[in-house]
Amino acid sequence: MLNVFTWIIHELSMEKDGLVIVYTGKGKGKTTAALGIALRATGYAKKTCMIQFIKGSWHYGEMYSSKRLEPEFEVVAIGKGFVGIIDDKSPKEEHERIAKEAIKISTEKIQSGKYDIVILDEINYAINLGLVKIEDVLNLIKSKPKELDLVLTGNYAKDEIIELADLVTEMREIKHPFQHGIKAKKGIDF
Ligand code: ATP
Ligand code: MG
Repeated sequence: MLNVFTWIIHELSMEKDGLVIVYTGKGKGKTTAALGIALRATGYAKKTCMIQFIKGSWHYGEMYSSKRLEPEFEVVAIGKGFVGIIDDKSPKEEHERIAKEAIKISTEKIQSGKYDIVILDEINYAINLGLVKIEDVLNLIKSKPKELDLVLTGNYAKDEIIELADLVTEMREIKHPFQHGIKAKKGIDF
């Protein structure tokens, strides 16, 4: 019986077209779900690049675990560039410069042919904060290599993005320890 399942899974995995996957919603688990894909894919020596929008000076476990999963898993932080902008309301030109750079790096990674999976982490927030233009992200999605799986995370996913996606999951908050004053936990939240 197990062999039949293995065979079916193998046959299914012959599917070559990449997916556009969106994790959105208020509930916790969007970035964690994307990291789960990276972990799973690494098991098959698939290459994943996670590009972190927004996330800046704070430390996240994935920054360190990616080092352990090298060379299959790579994390790039664009967020550091945006941090000053979000905090100090920097001039519009500075905002546009970093946004351009962010899209350039994402395009390079997506088009490089080096990766099986690219994760644009928190990109939905970057769009909503006006840091990144929705048109640029729609172009990124439309021009991705056919085989590449592209994952976009962050709440408030725009309808246009949902429209282009193959898989959209909305995390719904039922309970969160934060509501009871329990602070973010190492290894669970960051
Ligand atoms: P995670 O990275 O844990 O998968 P996420 O990607 O779904 O969370 P984000 O919007 O990126 O959520 O928020 C990042 C941080 O905020 C994480 O530390 C996460 O645990 C925390 N967080 C997520 N959802 C909630 C919530 N509903 N209430 C309070 N804190 C939250
Ligand atoms: Mg997240």
